[in-house]
Order: sequence, then C-alpha cells, then structure tokens
Amino acid sequence: QAYNERESLYIALNFARNLFVENLKSDEGKSIGMSYFRERGFNQKIIEKFDLGYAMDSWDHMLSEGKKAGHSEAILLKAGLVLEKEGDKSRIYDRFRNRVIFTIHNLGGKPIAFGARILTQDKKQPKYINSPETEVYHKSDVLYGLYQAKQAIRQADNCYLVEGYTDVVSLHLAGIENVVASSGTSLTEGQIKLIKRFSDNVTVLYDGDAAGIKASLRGIDMLLEGGLNVKAVVFPDGDDPDSYSRKVGTEVFQSYLKEHARDFIEFKIDLYNQEAKNDPIKRADVIRQVVQSIARIPDPLIRSVYIKESGRLLQIEEELVQTELNKILLKGQ
Ligand code: ATP
Ligand code: MN
Ligand code: MN
Ligand code: MN
Repeated sequence: QAYNERESLYIALNFARNLFVENLKSDEGKSIGMSYFRERGFNQKIIEKFDLGYAMDSWDHMLSEGKKAGHSEAILLKAGLVLEKEGDKSRIYDRFRNRVIFTIHNLGGKPIAFGARILTQDKKQPKYINSPETEVYHKSDVLYGLYQAKQAIRQADNCYLVEGYTDVVSLHLAGIENVVASSGTSLTEGQIKLIKRFSDNVTVLYDGDAAGIKASLRGIDMLLEGGLNVKAVVFPDGDDPDSYSRKVGTEVFQSYLKEHARDFIEFKIDLYNQEAKNDPIKRADVIRQVVQSIARIPDPLIRSVYIKESGRLLQIEEELVQTELNKILLKGQ
C-alpha cells in the first residue's frame, strides 16, 4: 500500500508513541521511567490517559526498532525521531534518550510530537527536549493537553492555561480537566484562536516566579486582544500549579483556584500596587499599565465595563481612565 508523506509521518509517530509506552513497561523503563513518574505522583491511569512513556538509554533503540517495523530512515528523520550526526550525515541516532516522554496529540488524538524530560539534575543538558517543527507539528498552533481537555473546556466554559506538561497532568490528577499548556513558549495567536474554539474564558495559571509573572502579563494582553475574558491566579513564589497542588492536596488546591482567580485588571493592579505603594508617580504608572491592557480589548462595550471597574479599583474618576485610554487608542490608529 502506498502512503503519502503526511500519512507516513502519522504512522511513524504512532509507532513511536507505542514504543515509548511499551518501553515504560520494560525492566529499564520500570526502574527508571516509572519510578520517576511515581515519585511525581502520577498513577497508571494518568500515564495511560496522556500516553506518557520512556525513551531508552540508547543511541539507536528508536532507529533500529523503527526500521525493523518498516519505517524508512528518511521518514524517521522527518518525524523528528532521529537526528543526523554533525559532520557525518550518513550516521543517524535517536533524538530522545534516557528521558521520560510526554506525547503531544493533535485535536483528533493522533500523536504529532514529543516532549522529553531529563531524569537527573544535570545542568549541562536541557531539562526538556522537544520535537522539532515537522510537516504535521506546527508548534505555534498546538496546545499541550487540548485533546484531553476539549470536552471539559466546553463544559466548564473556561480554560485554564498553564506553562508546563507536568502542570497539565497534575491538574487532571486534582480533578481539573479543562487545562492546556503553552509549553514554555510565549503564547501565539494560533494558540489563542484554538482556545477560542472551545471557550471565551481563560484563567492564566503561570509559575509563581519572575519569569512566570512576566510571561503571564504578556499572555494576558494577547488573550485580551484575541477577545477573550481573562482571569489570572498567582501562586506563591517558587511554586507552579504542579508543585503547589501536590503540596497542598486536591481540595485546598481546588478552592485556591476558586478564591484566587481574579479579573486581569485586579491581577495587574495588585501586582503594580505592590511596588507603587503610596508613591503618586508610581501610582500614575499603575493606571497607565492597566489602561494599556484595556486598550487591547476589541469590543467597545466590554472596554467600557472595564473602564468603570478600573476607576472603582484605582479610586480615580472614570473620565480620567477614559482620557488615558483615548490617548492610547488614538496613537494606535
Ligand atoms: P518540571 O516540573 O518537570 O521541572 P516544568 O513544566 O515546571 O517542569 P518549567 O521550567 O516551568 O518546567 O518550564 C515550563 C515548560 O517549558 C516545560 O513544561 C516545557 O514545555 C518548556 N521547557 C522548559 N525548559 C525547556 C527547555 N530547556 N527546552 C525546551 N522547552 C523547555
Ligand atoms: Mn518556570
Ligand atoms: Mn514544575
Ligand atoms: Mn514550571
């Protein structure tokens, strides 16, 4: 039977997923991969739900098993499963070695890419290695976990947005299934459109460190521009949704999300107020920062709701907010 290249890629990626999943059941996989997942609190059910796996500590396990199963070197290369050796392109070797595997699915549930986490604290190697862009994997149009979340996002009419693979898995373990990850990269327009297909409401749950807060500010503005209603939750410094949910347990975590989810406007005001305190010049800065975000909202009606809201929260005249907003809107034209 003749397949076109796309089909051959899907078949190879499906094979790779099955191999990674099988590897986890081997002696090596059990003692290394499975014990790693166990330590993180991942159970058998969640491992199956997310197609979690293990890449053997070998230079050519995927390559040789793939070839044995009839996948050409050319297809394994195009699927991003193996790499050409630098300086000697005739030699190829496995991209993912001695790592636990997070399978990335498309909306239909087909494997299209993998994220692979290192098992040690080795600072010389990257913590995660991800599949490269391929004909079937366009990173900027994919959200990790969407396949497992889409139903729940529709049902809850809200989507939790996290940074990492493990955050997605841990939220499922905590009974929260309407969650996707941007996987470390800054959010893209394609990813925002994808969310919008399932809900107009997003709650941003980024890591509670400086990088996470910076990324969430950028993400919030982009989501607003995309016409979404945006809330955010801040975690204690040093915690991400995964570590925090394991620290406090399912019940406390769930109520933390409910109690700490605030409109983007409150999130921003609190954040900047922490620095500004009563310094009037810095307070003016807070106002400008908030108005910057409001200016991105495409719907004038929703914009006006937030003008009222920010006037109240900032304890300033609504007209003043409107004036500041007009300045920005005029600049943008
Ligand atoms: P863990 O809890 O296992 O340490 P994490 O998800 O909390 O993982 P972060 O450092 O917060 O890890 O990064 C968030 C996400 O960014 C990761 O899940 C991964 O998708 C991506 N990422 C992190 N480090 C890298 C890297 N070195 N290369 C590529 N992607 C990365
Ligand atoms: Mn982080
Ligand atoms: Mn983490
Ligand atoms: Mn993290």
